[in-house]
Amino acid sequence: MAILVYIENTDGGLKKSAFEAAAYAKAIADQKGDTLVALSIGDVADAELQKLGKYGVTKVLNASQANLKQFVNKAYAAIIAAAAKQEQASVVVLSNSFSGKGLAPRVAAKLDAGLADGAISLPSWNGNDMEVKKTAFSNKAFATEIISSPVKVISLSPNAYELKESPASAEIVPFTADVNANDLSVVLKEIVRATDKISLPEAEIVVSAGRGLKGPENWAMVEELADVLGAATACSKPVSDAGWRPHSEHVGQTGIVVSPNLYIAIGISGAIQHLAGVSSSKTIVVINKDPEAPFFKVADYGIVGDAFEVVPKLTEAIRNLKN
Ligand code: FAD
Repeated sequence: MAILVYIENTDGGLKKSAFEAAAYAKAIADQKGDTLVALSIGDVADAELQKLGKYGVTKVLNASQANLKQFVNKAYAAIIAAAAKQEQASVVVLSNSFSGKGLAPRVAAKLDAGLADGAISLPSWNGNDMEVKKTAFSNKAFATEIISSPVKVISLSPNAYELKESPASAEIVPFTADVNANDLSVVLKEIVRATDKISLPEAEIVVSAGRGLKGPENWAMVEELADVLGAATACSKPVSDAGWRPHSEHVGQTGIVVSPNLYIAIGISGAIQHLAGVSSSKTIVVINKDPEAPFFKVADYGIVGDAFEVVPKLTEAIRNLKN
């Protein structure tokens, strides 16, 4: 039996979440005494795939056929399922990314497998039953799912699993599988990137601001702080609703869920719908002029003060630390 991990790429480069999925799958393979096989689909150079060796991958199936260069949900799901069958995988691991959210249920349906999506830690095993912890009800609770089907599909939340190196040498093996015309009925014509900045769901540091900033003209100081920290920027829902910031930055119950190592909230009250998207951040810093703001209740560090005074000073202090 094998553990199969699907490795996502962006423009031929492997993302941090791909390495996290590989390291996580390696840990599952070790739990079960199974071999680990990775699958890459699209145009990824061998040198890039070999980086997976650092996380214990010894074999990479490389599906690089011309009609798979662009991500097409149905076709990619068919390839992942075909690889899982070829390798007799008992567990298929994916990232719980935007594309992973579309792929995982399709792969599970094709393999007659149970699906645990958005896992936040390693599973435990009770015989053939796999128990997986995940967040539920918009991060307000934890749930343990038990998957008993012979084949299991599991998707890993970004930033939920610490990258552990377990060096090996990865052999890259070409992989082809039939993709029928129906699976390729959707054609991806163009990808328009909302931003060239750090991807919000994967960011390790997020600087986020809310209505306390009064207007879009005041975001330069947020971006400056984000720049010195190498962070992604985010915002509360009213801010994106008002068009001060793009919707791609809106975090919360109805927006993106983030779990960075550091979340800095500036002029955000901390409404429950906002917290739903950020409460699994490892460290939360809140800057708010109202000492009664609900956000302080979940903050690890709080600064009561006017953002227009605090943020430039904080940026300056971090810049000085770096110089
Ligand atoms: P406000 O509530 O107006 O808070 C502004 C804060 O800034 C205040 O705490 C104030 O003290 C502080 N402030 C003001 N001036 C300064 C200053 N100079 N310096 C420092 N601090 C200052 N919201 C989300 O964010 N994400 C969601 O996904 C989301 N989903 C929702 C879904 C539903 C169904 C509903 C009903 C609501 C949802 N909301 C969501 C909205 C949510 O309830 C809040 O209204 C929203 O989060 C408030 O945004 P805010 O904190 O930026 O603004």
